[in-house]
Amino acid sequence: MSKFFQTSIEFVKGVGPQKAALLGKELGVFTYADLIQYYPFRYEDRSVFHTVSDCYYKEGETVQLRGSIRYFDMVGEGRKKRLSAEFRDHTGNLELTWFQGVNWVKKALKPGVNYIVYGKVARYGSKVSIAHPEFESEATADKQKGLQPVYSSTELLRRKYLDSKGISKIVRNLLQRALNEIPETLPEKLRGDYNLPGKAESIRHIHFPANQNKLQLARYRLKFEELFYIQLRLMKLKLHRQDAFKGLVLDKTNLLTEFYENHLPFELTNAQKRVIKEIYRDLKSGKQMNRLLQGDVGSGKTIVAFVSALLAIDNNAQCALMAPTEILADQHYRGLKPFADELGISIEKLTGSTKKSERTRIHENLMSGELNILVGTHALIEDTVQFKNLGLVIIDEQHRFGVAQRAKLWQKNTRAVPHILVMTATPIPRTLAMTLYGDLEISSIDELPAGRKPIKTIHQYDANRLKVNAFLKKEIEAGRQVYIVYPLIEESEKLDYKDLMDGFESISRAFPDYQISIVHGRQKPADKDFEMQRFVKGETRIMVATTVIEVGVNVPNATVMVIENAEKFGLAQLHQLRGRVGRGAEQSYCVLMSSYKLSKEARKRLDTMVRTTDGFEIADVDLQLRGPGDLMGTQQSGVLDLLVSDLAKDGKIVQLAKEAASSLMKTDPDLTLKENYLIRKQVESQQKNVFNWSRIS
Ligand code: ADP
Ligand code: MG
Repeated sequence: MSKFFQTSIEFVKGVGPQKAALLGKELGVFTYADLIQYYPFRYEDRSVFHTVSDCYYKEGETVQLRGSIRYFDMVGEGRKKRLSAEFRDHTGNLELTWFQGVNWVKKALKPGVNYIVYGKVARYGSKVSIAHPEFESEATADKQKGLQPVYSSTELLRRKYLDSKGISKIVRNLLQRALNEIPETLPEKLRGDYNLPGKAESIRHIHFPANQNKLQLARYRLKFEELFYIQLRLMKLKLHRQDAFKGLVLDKTNLLTEFYENHLPFELTNAQKRVIKEIYRDLKSGKQMNRLLQGDVGSGKTIVAFVSALLAIDNNAQCALMAPTEILADQHYRGLKPFADELGISIEKLTGSTKKSERTRIHENLMSGELNILVGTHALIEDTVQFKNLGLVIIDEQHRFGVAQRAKLWQKNTRAVPHILVMTATPIPRTLAMTLYGDLEISSIDELPAGRKPIKTIHQYDANRLKVNAFLKKEIEAGRQVYIVYPLIEESEKLDYKDLMDGFESISRAFPDYQISIVHGRQKPADKDFEMQRFVKGETRIMVATTVIEVGVNVPNATVMVIENAEKFGLAQLHQLRGRVGRGAEQSYCVLMSSYKLSKEARKRLDTMVRTTDGFEIADVDLQLRGPGDLMGTQQSGVLDLLVSDLAKDGKIVQLAKEAASSLMKTDPDLTLKENYLIRKQVESQQKNVFNWSRIS
């Protein structure tokens, strides 16, 4: 924005140095631009009038009434003491009450005069009342008011008369001077194509909407612009990356054919086939692949990873598969080893606990190129680990790895940056993925292998524990195994730990005939592993654990997942935990235990879990409940500092903005055409104060 918009709000009529300082401190509003973009968070519709009789079924809603005051009275005792007025219109009467500012109200309101009254309806038995209503005399009221903006304010600001109304006044003052100066930031053609009103007009109507329709259009335009420029930036980033980083051409498919024809243990699902095609297209393109593979727990990502590895190996390149924990690395290794053996491919595992001699041998085989696949934990990215020709890096469960760690992998091949495939079992809602990972390609496995029995999920209150225990006993006696998981939340770690230990004891008492494993974060890795292995081998029938087992453990014989204090878990975590069962042929169950006392949100989470097993649906509910910032963690939240858009609700606009940006990138990637001049100008001015976009890959 031009210099004019960097002017301090001090110079807006009605502000001055003191209020300006306070607005800066309280709201972060310093300049004209800031104030113009301090949009209302809701609107009150003053075009509609209600009647007193309407109020009987409008409890909790805000109404606008026309009528007069009959008389005042002080009623009640002590803290409940209040000024009460009888207000009536042609349909009946109700009570207006004031607990504060009584004297002022008494002076301002005159019996017999007609007023417009505005406030929230409360109901006490058969009586209806409105506390602290806004009012003005009908004779002087502005009849054309329509939608009134509501701005958020603070206690300190209110004391300086900068409540919502006060803010609205200074915004109006500023717009009177500034509206004509607001530059257009989207070209006419684009506005025509997408039915977007002009910028200045939109700014005017988002603050002072003439009517509902103008408001919707204004919001749509501003959201579209915001999302459009984000998409554009992500796409430019992607283009730049593809230009800058050549990838090895991995196009031979002999190994893959051999594997398909002779060793494939099952028919691939259509989703798996599609995703493998997408990956192959990237690998042979000569450009570096940067692909996110998302698929629900149990959707079969491992085999996709293996097939991708085959493509690398067939073309004389090596593959590294990185998992977040030793247990997972081990599981991948043991899962893939038999396939590798059949195909005559060498595979090794490298973790923190790999012995020195072993390590040396692995290093040598990596350098000589004899070793094809290296599976491991972040031990893989240590500088001592050097490859002859690393072609593909597969990262499982990406949310455990920082960007810096991933970037290190890029340097492991000096000839060409290795292709990167990031696998995650935490589905990311589409709108969020498009915005956050817009510079990555995304593949989704949205289908489970045939023949899986959907997991049955039930919610039980703690009071029914005996019933639940009886059910567990039945399952164990039928030869199955059971997980019982306790939350471990950092702030209350001590308490949670006690919960876990108490739980362990009561379970030991309830199941005296069975061996029980216990796994938690305070154990040494070796102990953890030992307990884990006992369960994997079936020596223990019950696994009591904290969420350390959340990711990736595969024990097909385990059919029940009991989650204690389920109300304390987020949806993503509940879904992840549930995914630990349902991996075998038997019917599996997830039991969510909670107390009777549940917040509205907790209830919604548990209900959602009971209702569906679809990870994408769950991710969407999660997005609605928590909002995008929270969902991605604080690390990402800066990216989502959106002024008007709400990724939880504006999926459609994200889609449109993406479509617009994408067609622009096709026709005029360098933004040199005259018709795109406004876009280029805007992109350049945004580049001056960008946050670090590279961190989101
Ligand atoms: P995840 O996506 O959670 O990593 P896995 O790759 O571990 O899932 O697969 C889960 C289980 O499903 C494994 O036992 C695997 O062998 C099996 N599986 C994968 N794909 C198929 C398929 N197309 N048909 C049958 N079983 C499959
Ligand atoms: Mg997996």
